[in-house]
Amino acid sequence: MSKKQDKTQKAAIADLALDFSSGFKYEPAPESSSHVKLEKQYELFIDGKWVAPIDEKYFETTSPATEQVLSRIAEASAADVDKAVKAARNAYENVWSKISAKERGKYLFRIARIIQEKAREFAVIETMEGGKPIRESRDIDVPLAANHFFYYAGWADKLEYAFPGKKANSIGVAGQIIPWNFPLLMAAWKIAPALAAGNTVVLKPAETTSLTALKLAEVFQEAGLPAGVVNIVTGAGATGAAIVNHPDVNKIAFTGSTDVGKIIQKAIAGTNKKLTLELGGKAANIIFEDAAIDQAVEGIVNGIFFNQGHVCCAGSRLFVQEGVADKVIKKLKDRMKSLIVGDPMDKNTDIGAINSKEQLKKINDYLKIGVNEGAEIFQPACTLPKKGYFCAPTLFLHTSQSHRIVQEEIFGPVLAIQTFRTVEEVLEKANNTPYGLSAGVWTDKGSKIFNMTTKLKAGVVWANTYNKFDPASPFGGYKESGIGREGGLHGLLPYLSLS
Ligand code: ADP
Repeated sequence: MSKKQDKTQKAAIADLALDFSSGFKYEPAPESSSHVKLEKQYELFIDGKWVAPIDEKYFETTSPATEQVLSRIAEASAADVDKAVKAARNAYENVWSKISAKERGKYLFRIARIIQEKAREFAVIETMEGGKPIRESRDIDVPLAANHFFYYAGWADKLEYAFPGKKANSIGVAGQIIPWNFPLLMAAWKIAPALAAGNTVVLKPAETTSLTALKLAEVFQEAGLPAGVVNIVTGAGATGAAIVNHPDVNKIAFTGSTDVGKIIQKAIAGTNKKLTLELGGKAANIIFEDAAIDQAVEGIVNGIFFNQGHVCCAGSRLFVQEGVADKVIKKLKDRMKSLIVGDPMDKNTDIGAINSKEQLKKINDYLKIGVNEGAEIFQPACTLPKKGYFCAPTLFLHTSQSHRIVQEEIFGPVLAIQTFRTVEEVLEKANNTPYGLSAGVWTDKGSKIFNMTTKLKAGVVWANTYNKFDPASPFGGYKESGIGREGGLHGLLPYLSLS
């Protein structure tokens, strides 16, 4: 290369660098919703049919990004729930427990394949109603949901070999209640193992995100799943409570807040119902001085900012070893400046809409609490859309163990940072929480990983990565984060009785 060429190239690179520092501007890249068909009104899915709620009550579901009404959803009363449980019981006694395990598996395979065929439609609806970036629903939620059906389809005819010396029996009707952060994926996590094990289901999605569960009901119809094997009842807390309190439900599986989990645990105490709870979390992400810092920073961003922090296992507490604290914080701030907050339907968006007005208020209240507690707040300059519910990614520096923003689950894109010097210190701090769902460790040393994973009180510990899921690996927490596991062989156990 001549000197002149070299100079020109250097100048071009310098220009690029200038461009970059002043902020890349991405052209809008919206995902089309023209292929999505939403009904004006959705009924309850009971006994394989769409039925109007007995009280004829409906509620509206809106897009959190545009505040537009998307559809009207039926609100199931206790009488509707009773109809759904009766349908599930009938299907259990007369159809589902009678067919062979191999046949059950075939239905599940069929459901998995149809979800894959409709993947784009599912992703778009999930994003329209839930507010999460289309990239997340397209690349994570929907493929994982299909994979759960594939995975448990494979187990159906192998149950008799899975527990040597024991017979695996189904348990009956499962009542399942799910939250709004992963609407389709949570439905798959719950329905697939229940059906593989030979049970029937009454499922209630969260009131702000009913649509993909209702679309899933359409998939069940297309797959020819026998009537009553899965029933979807929509509604809010009262509908959920009607499922929990129904005397003919054999098992409750709940994912949601620790407060509601405690109510459910009390409600079923003294009954024969089985229970699994997947509740809140306040995960610690721990960066040691010997970690690959750039990789760790990206993992931290993925763990708390992508998906708006709407993940129960979100890495909402960051512990950085003192020697690299300044470096990590600088890199984190720089990376936060490049995050795109806005239209979740845009393929470039990193942080979409907060799921509801109430949730946004809760997050904003915590931001005020953090400032009043004396922590230093950092938010990159970003213009939030005027309509819809949005929150800028937020760092809190100089936090301490006693701060509420360090102790309580915020469920938003808010990260509280502390520093540490020794392994003992960080273990003490990381475990000082009522929760025990997940944690992350970033280090170059395998021995340190093993040491940390055995001492961190969390159901899942990721090492040099974060928020990685696979249908074959169990997920769940202890302490106030829940009881039982979902995923893998462990995820089948709550749906079986072994004799
Ligand atoms: P989040 O804070 O994630 O919204 P919730 O625990 O409030 O969590 O909600 C999770 C799910 O539990 C939703 O489907 C909701 O409708 C349902 N739910 C709320 N209250 C009750 C209750 N008392 N009994 C059963 N289900 C409930």
